[in-house]
Amino acid sequence: MMLTESISIERVKKSRLSTIDFSNLGFGNHISDHMLVADYKNKSWQEPKIVPFGDMPMSPAMLSLHYGQTIFEGMKAFKNTKGEIIIFRPQRHHQRMNKSLARMCMPELSEELFLQSLSALTEVDSDWIPTQEGSSLYLRPFVFAYEAKLGVKIADEYKFIIITSPVGPYFAKPVKLKVEEEYVRAAEGGTGFAKCAGNYGGAFYPTMLAQKQGFDQVLWTDAKEHKYIDESGAMNIMFVLNGKLVTPQLTTSLLDGVTRDSILTLSSSLGIEKEERKVSIAEIEEGFKKGTLTEAFGVGTAAVVSTVASISIHGKNYELPPVNEKSFQLRAKKKLHDIRLGIEPDVHGWNYIVK
Ligand SMILES: *Cc1c(COP(=O)(O)O)cnc(C)c1O
Repeated sequence: MMLTESISIERVKKSRLSTIDFSNLGFGNHISDHMLVADYKNKSWQEPKIVPFGDMPMSPAMLSLHYGQTIFEGMKAFKNTKGEIIIFRPQRHHQRMNKSLARMCMPELSEELFLQSLSALTEVDSDWIPTQEGSSLYLRPFVFAYEAKLGVKIADEYKFIIITSPVGPYFAKPVKLKVEEEYVRAAEGGTGFAKCAGNYGGAFYPTMLAQKQGFDQVLWTDAKEHKYIDESGAMNIMFVLNGKLVTPQLTTSLLDGVTRDSILTLSSSLGIEKEERKVSIAEIEEGFKKGTLTEAFGVGTAAVVSTVASISIHGKNYELPPVNEKSFQLRAKKKLHDIRLGIEPDVHGWNYIVK
């Protein structure tokens, strides 16, 4: 198909870059100057274009608004110690995006189109990639049904858009989790493994209820019995239990996180055995009681690692010991950071260098 050179670029008349306070970015507060847009029509993806970020026309009958065909991805770009632009594991994000698209009956994208679009856009807005410690450019590709028609149907027209946002270090304080035993995020056979917008919409209400009770996030359990752990909020969950790294195995009801996969892959070089299996609430509770549960943390692109302070199980609150520099989660986070910036060798070929 097309080459990066052929992606047409319409530049902004005036960059907004000088209005951004890079020492105080937060997450998702600013959107970079440009966006990439590609249309799907006549059964194929058309040439992508880079244009100034801005509003776009849409019909109130746009199918995605009514029937929910909309999916997204989230990944990060950095400047490494050599000053090169790197995107972390975009091929893996591409594979997952295609799984999400297939589940939602939406047209898949070629790896070439995906990588070239990401590369071209990060290059155009390369001055938006923050270089302060712990910051990055968050990349948000998404696809949604754009066709206007009121009848229930699989859309024939879509848009693939990428917007980007400079994000600062994530200094979240340790989170308080509540094991959710009433509401469900996803059931086996449903769309839990797809990064589709509806999963988020349905999670807001139970999360809001938990927050009213003083928790930060819910720990989702299986839809059938509420006995086994799926994931936490919008992150995969990991435990250090009996000295082993334990995480729920992948099913159709939880998301196959890239951070999850990266940390599992790095576990042996960090000197820990890993177990991907069913994880029951009962064994986590027992781990608290016996003192064999030493760490719990969420993992995802945004925060990388999010320390869990406590977990409420059947209304009883259990606290985790505080983390220190020897904690597995902090060592894993540092290793990922060092690989991305080129401080440690990238033996797994995770860094995609934008040329
Ligand atoms: C995106 C996401 C994750 C984390 O995936 P990463 O690829 O590590 O960012 C976990 N759970 C849910 C529900 C998600 O949407």
